[in-house]
Amino acid sequence: MKPKRRDFRLDIIVLLGSITAVTIASFGAYRWFAGQRIMAWLDLAIVATVCVPLVYAWRTGDSRRAGNALAVLNSLATLTACVMSGHTALSWTYLVLLTNFFIAHRWLAVACNLALIAGMQAIPGFFHDRVHAVSVLISALLVTGFSHLFASRTQDDRARLERLAALDALTGLPNRRSMERVLADAVETFQRTAHGFGLVVLDLDKFKEVNDLYGHAAGDAAIADLASILRFEMRRNDQVFRFGGEEFVVLLEVDSSTDLEAATERLRKAVRGGLRGPGGRITISLGAALLRDQEKTWHDWFSRADAALYRAKSAGRDNYVIADDLF
Ligand code: GH3
Ligand code: MG
Ligand code: MG
Repeated sequence: MKPKRRDFRLDIIVLLGSITAVTIASFGAYRWFAGQRIMAWLDLAIVATVCVPLVYAWRTGDSRRAGNALAVLNSLATLTACVMSGHTALSWTYLVLLTNFFIAHRWLAVACNLALIAGMQAIPGFFHDRVHAVSVLISALLVTGFSHLFASRTQDDRARLERLAALDALTGLPNRRSMERVLADAVETFQRTAHGFGLVVLDLDKFKEVNDLYGHAAGDAAIADLASILRFEMRRNDQVFRFGGEEFVVLLEVDSSTDLEAATERLRKAVRGGLRGPGGRITISLGAALLRDQEKTWHDWFSRADAALYRAKSAGRDNYVIADDLF
């Protein structure tokens, strides 16, 4: 089974939701036995409301909606607590002002925080005096501002890291990690829609000689040039990946072996005609396979294309083999 991606927001929702529910339930139980029945019922209502997004997030994995709902609920519950209990509830508001940014979209968190801050200012007799009101106003706004800044920064860094993790540094092409995801998606699409796909695995011929004779930098330049040629040859729905070393993979939207063969030969010719190293022409060998009905994972499909590549190498290089020829 595919490992589930860690969802930080879901972790926070579950942690925060459970702590909130348990804490408020304890207060509720205390109030019930102290005879404050109305407050105890209110606590119980809050616990039940907080549990809804918690259970929803846990069951569906949709942490985005659940987080937004929980931020609104937490802010409302905190404001209600401020109205009912006065400034003893004040310390909790800072926790909510901060955690809203962990669970909700950052602009919704800003809106919740501003509503909570304004709400507190509107509660009659909530603060000791004007100075207390102003100092809470300023500190709460600062917590909101800094949290917003931090949340934006974290989100940008995360997007940048995800982009970098998907690309190969030398060629700028999507790397093997991206390829695995895209091939798995292609297999899934094929099973759902019978939309055809072809896979080409290609490898530079006698590339070790280029490195040995002209150095690693010349080898790197040839790999980068090959990437440019392949990128240029891609049609609208084709995708090229650097699989690793001097091996590349091309995913094509094709429905027949004939179309796959034509595309594979076109790539071979383009590289033969365009790739030059310090010692002259550099060629590639290619193996290609059309995705089959019975292939439920991309690995089987890839293995057939790779076996075809091996055959193309054995047959003398600078040529291609289509996997279906083998069966
Ligand atoms: P064949 O035609 O059978 O593919 O022969 P080959 O020499 O290309 O194959 P082999 O697998 O023996 O060698 C691949 C070479 O590719 C070895 C390795 O040094 C080189 N190589 C792999 N990745 C890079 C890279 O990023 N930069 C450079 N310069 N060389 C690389
Ligand atoms: Mg190789
Ligand atoms: Mg090679």
